[in-house]
Amino acid sequence: MPSFVDLVFEAQIAAQSLAETLSGRALRLGVTGLSGAGKTIFVTSLVHHLTSIGARGMRGKNPLPVFRVHAEGRLTRGFLEPQPDDAVPRFAYEDHLAALTGPGDKVEGREWPQSTTRVSELRLTLEFERAAGLRKGPAELAIDIVDYPGEWLLDLPLLEKSFAQWSREAFAAASVPARAAVAAPWRDYVSTIDPAGKLDEEIAQRAAALFKSYLSGCRAEPISASSLPPGRFLMPGDLDGSPLLTFAPLPLVEGDVSASGTLAAMMERRYEAYKAHVVKPFFRDHFARLDRQIVLVDTLAALNAGPAALHDLETALVEVLNAFRTGRNNILAMLFRPKIDKILFAATKADHLNHMSHDRLEAVLRHLTARAIARAEGLGATVDVIALAAVRATHEVKVAAKSGPFGAASELPAVVGIPMKGERIGAEIFDGLSEAAIFPGELPKDPNVVFSGDVDMAAMQEGGDYRFLRFRPPIPQRDAAGNLLPLPHIRLDRALQFLLGDRLK
Ligand code: GDP
Repeated sequence: MPSFVDLVFEAQIAAQSLAETLSGRALRLGVTGLSGAGKTIFVTSLVHHLTSIGARGMRGKNPLPVFRVHAEGRLTRGFLEPQPDDAVPRFAYEDHLAALTGPGDKVEGREWPQSTTRVSELRLTLEFERAAGLRKGPAELAIDIVDYPGEWLLDLPLLEKSFAQWSREAFAAASVPARAAVAAPWRDYVSTIDPAGKLDEEIAQRAAALFKSYLSGCRAEPISASSLPPGRFLMPGDLDGSPLLTFAPLPLVEGDVSASGTLAAMMERRYEAYKAHVVKPFFRDHFARLDRQIVLVDTLAALNAGPAALHDLETALVEVLNAFRTGRNNILAMLFRPKIDKILFAATKADHLNHMSHDRLEAVLRHLTARAIARAEGLGATVDVIALAAVRATHEVKVAAKSGPFGAASELPAVVGIPMKGERIGAEIFDGLSEAAIFPGELPKDPNVVFSGDVDMAAMQEGGDYRFLRFRPPIPQRDAAGNLLPLPHIRLDRALQFLLGDRLK
């Protein structure tokens, strides 16, 4: 239990930010998603757009037509300011933008930046004109963007689980056929150890290491699972190598009390320490303080991996929404913070698909989250779903088909980009320098179909043996004075309108 002093201290911190929030001057926007979902790219592109107010996009177009405050010409300036939380690392915006645009705008210089591995923060302040009403006139909104690994969010359900219960669930999850091979080394090892035996650090280390590589194997292709707690095993942040992460599930009977001095007692103690010293502080310091949240989802990766990965993603989305519901019941959050009132789920990397499939990608994610929302009663937040590309690395063309789903002599809706070095389609290996037109396949009209296993993503694509390729970031565009133009995107403005629009009226 936290002491009274702790609570007062926490309340003061919360009250400080509350004052800003109540004045309408500040808004905390959480950006999350599993590793590789696109958090770093989303934040970088968002900040670049909003700090380039006034700049036109390609061919002189307004780059954010659906973001009302901008389209109505009321957004006067966006700039970075020191963030309010000194203890949280700053989001390395400048480095990420420099990586994306490359030195001297050279093809080989443009790389996707280092992905999110821990929580980081950035304060972006917008100056705008209020449209009408009593408060008409100049105003400011400070947006504290908090980027954090989705793996940590999926840890919150652990708070309600005992070590025995979590162990049991971990073994059950590992017993599904798709995971059998990757789970074998860990499970074989566990079968040789006695939970009631004397505690032994070497055994604990070995079991934890094997469990961790099992989790990493499940996260990687072809399994591409989403819900794999404890999150710090995959995304340790600053805790890499810490004893807090040296535990693993053991075959235990629920209700049995492990005798002190046994391996089971030590593992259980570390599991409880993980909850107390890792999960709870994250909840209190970061999660419970958010006002708005975008959850980025690499839906295409799950689609590629098939129905098992999609069902696992669906479970993860239920857990995400449950975490938000739990957030509403937390006493500190209730007393000192307004609650999260808007959550946006976004399918990322839509630029891998032709625009004909963007709505379908959105429909797949809508379908996935609909079930999650139905199960998360009493959420009390507005939830929306979108398909977007924070940075659009491709453009579209029609190519003549040699064979494939539309038959010979038909035209395929393709995307063109520079595949990253080493990417391949069949025998063709790309050099990372030249453009290629790729037919990425079309998503089915009915999102239900993808859950049934009736769709074979590879077969939908010409050439069969094909997965979505990684493209190089797009060629940066500059104005006559040499200033970088806002990065091309797909539907980023829709996301901004949903997340911020009502606060910029
Ligand atoms: P994070 O782990 O959630 O921070 O993921 P990142 O933002 O680092 O994205 C992981 C990778 O996904 C990047 O290195 C890119 O290859 C790819 N990616 C992310 N967003 C986009 C996007 O909008 N378009 C394209 N084409 N690729 C993207």
